[in-house]
Amino acid sequence: MAIVSSGSKKSSSYNLNGKTRLLDPKRLEEDTKKRKDDSLRPQSLNEFVGQSDLKEVLSISVKAALSRKEALDHVLLYGPPGLGKTTMALVLARELGVQCRITSAPALERPRDIIGLLLNLKSHELLFVDEIHRLTKVAQELLYPALEDFRLDLTVGKGTTARTREIDLPRFTFIGATTSPASISSPLRDRFGITHRLNFYQLDDLQKIIQRAADLLELKLSTEGSMEIARRCRGTPRIANRLLRRVRDFATVQENIQIVDKDVVNESLKLHQVDECGLDQTDRRFLSFIVEAHDNGPVGLETLAAALGEESSTLETVVEPFLLQIGFLKRTPRGRIVTSAAIDHLHFDKSTRMPS
Ligand code: ADP
Repeated sequence: MAIVSSGSKKSSSYNLNGKTRLLDPKRLEEDTKKRKDDSLRPQSLNEFVGQSDLKEVLSISVKAALSRKEALDHVLLYGPPGLGKTTMALVLARELGVQCRITSAPALERPRDIIGLLLNLKSHELLFVDEIHRLTKVAQELLYPALEDFRLDLTVGKGTTARTREIDLPRFTFIGATTSPASISSPLRDRFGITHRLNFYQLDDLQKIIQRAADLLELKLSTEGSMEIARRCRGTPRIANRLLRRVRDFATVQENIQIVDKDVVNESLKLHQVDECGLDQTDRRFLSFIVEAHDNGPVGLETLAAALGEESSTLETVVEPFLLQIGFLKRTPRGRIVTSAAIDHLHFDKSTRMPS
């Protein structure tokens, strides 16, 4: 099965003082290098670790579509970056025995981009569009009849001579992915037959993903070593694979390492300032700012973004979800509050609110 990639899927990874962030769950250049990224992707629903509810729903739909010889219903996958939305689209294409065309909303800015893609689709093929909350209004309006009735409505000519031409499209499956489902217009949301959230992964699932990737990379990794990476990867397979590569680099340049154990993992991740909960300097700056400058909060998102020099959308979709998930941060109507668990972790003295 060939994968047809259209446009750039590279997201705007953000930088910390000019450096790329190791724990950024968004796709970085290293992850997009085809050889590296694709070699670690699971190839079938069986190989896809975790997300059992999603897998159950999709495997039933795949079996039904195959037995009825129909296209799979349109699928909307949402959740933080790096959890396997693109991977799932590729797995589905494999299971269905069809091609998957991959693109992202920013690459579909001009109407002709999306028209070209739709006209080139073949029967039952998958069209994966990442970041669909960023689709332009024109692109969305072209998509509505395409998704609903497999029809493209084109306006030919201008002014009084303008006419609408309808072109039939083959039955295809649209897979939309987003980190921000609330930003999708309801007419677009309503056109998906299956809508599912991807959640952060549990430790045992992460360990399986890491062990499998280590085998593929021909790295001898102990069980404790893989558990240590699992603990520090923020519940995110993309980060797990990235940390694993850094550990492998470290092990390669050390002499006499037969097996990568917990100590080797600890030492190499210490170099990258990734702590035992998976927090890096960005997280620590974020939490420390709320504790030190705002007496634990509440602090508004815009204030935090301005103070830390980050986009508020980046803080909201990349930094905060994991801190909320592990109970280090709370969102209230008046702003963000740091919890006492985070204060303990950061070794802040609770009375002075300064590092002890
Ligand atoms: P998203 O599209 O949600 O940003 P991707 O599908 O690109 O995330 O996943 C990032 C990387 O994480 C992939 O290259 C893949 O190797 C790995 N990955 C994601 N989900 C899984 C999984 N369930 N099992 C094993 N590896 C996974």
